[in-house]
Amino acid sequence: MDKTITDFFISLVTIDSESKNEKATALKLEEDLKKLGAKVQYDNAHKKTDGNIGNLYAYFPGNIEKLPILLCAHLDTVTPGNNIKPQIMDDKIFSDGTTILGADDKSGVAAIIWAIKELKENNEDHAPIEALFTISEEIGLLGAKHLDYSLIKSKIGYAFDGHHVGQITIGAPSQNSMKYTIHGKESHAGVAPEQGIHAIKITSEAIAAMPMGRIDEETTCNVGVIKGGTATNIIPNLVVLKAEARSHNEDKLKQITEQMSDALLKTADKYKLDGFQAKVNIEIEKSYQAFKLKDDDDVIHLAKKASENCGFEFKTNIGGGGSDANIFNVHGLKMAVAGTGMEKVHTVDEYIAISDLENCVKWTKEVIREYSRT
Ligand SMILES: [Zn+2]
Repeated sequence: MDKTITDFFISLVTIDSESKNEKATALKLEEDLKKLGAKVQYDNAHKKTDGNIGNLYAYFPGNIEKLPILLCAHLDTVTPGNNIKPQIMDDKIFSDGTTILGADDKSGVAAIIWAIKELKENNEDHAPIEALFTISEEIGLLGAKHLDYSLIKSKIGYAFDGHHVGQITIGAPSQNSMKYTIHGKESHAGVAPEQGIHAIKITSEAIAAMPMGRIDEETTCNVGVIKGGTATNIIPNLVVLKAEARSHNEDKLKQITEQMSDALLKTADKYKLDGFQAKVNIEIEKSYQAFKLKDDDDVIHLAKKASENCGFEFKTNIGGGGSDANIFNVHGLKMAVAGTGMEKVHTVDEYIAISDLENCVKWTKEVIREYSRT
């Protein structure tokens, strides 16, 4: 394996692994994990997600008798994530500005493996560890959704997919994803505009009447994609709208989703012509379920202890987005999101400080030590 965590991290980000293309990264990690003494296997999640390899699961037997602890990170990156050329400037690692860096989430992957490597080199006793590297997190938590849960024996764990090292996210909202198809009636814009029903006009009226953005401290919604029309001389008969709503409160989520749908339905209802009625087709999918850990959950205590041992400031926060932790919590695991130091993720300005990579390894070792001790 590499000499330093920085070298290891760089070796990982230089392997292309946009969502559905995690195979090369997984095969490299499989080798590393085996060298460290793990039993390694893949599940078949990729068969349902159209990827080229399944979730990578590694089991490290411990010499302390206890249930294992789960340490998880995702293998995939967002785009543009191919041909990443990491640059080191002072204490920070950036891309060359044409791609993301992939610290989201290769910093998590690197920290988990490096922490285990250092514990092994030190011959430290520890409880069993399950290290899990999921696929296609960035395109809807698909690896976690289709994981073979019979593999997982842990009751608590951390998804290494957050910002500040030593801090954890202990709750996240539910999200609905909506796809609206607005059907109008086509007609020549110059010759017979009276005979058309304008799908773009209906859509704009409806959007203007919709709630948008931050609704309250626990609820947001957004229209993010709008597609419609073919030419300036045609009254458009079709618009496709993609939207989302998030809330930590299920009732509010339901309410805001209904308000968005109603705005479209009511507007479309007003448009009819010679027996033709404008219509809206609505598809709503629950992307993920909210979770909220309790103050006395072990997974919070353990993180706090680890941060104190390292001398890092400990804070918990409630997140605004979904992660693999949403899915694991639904499956009965107590899972928090742990910070790795990644910054400006999902942009070409993404970076991570080398000191944060090192600190995340320290913190991870302390989590394993504390877990093994208690
Ligand atoms: Zn991530």
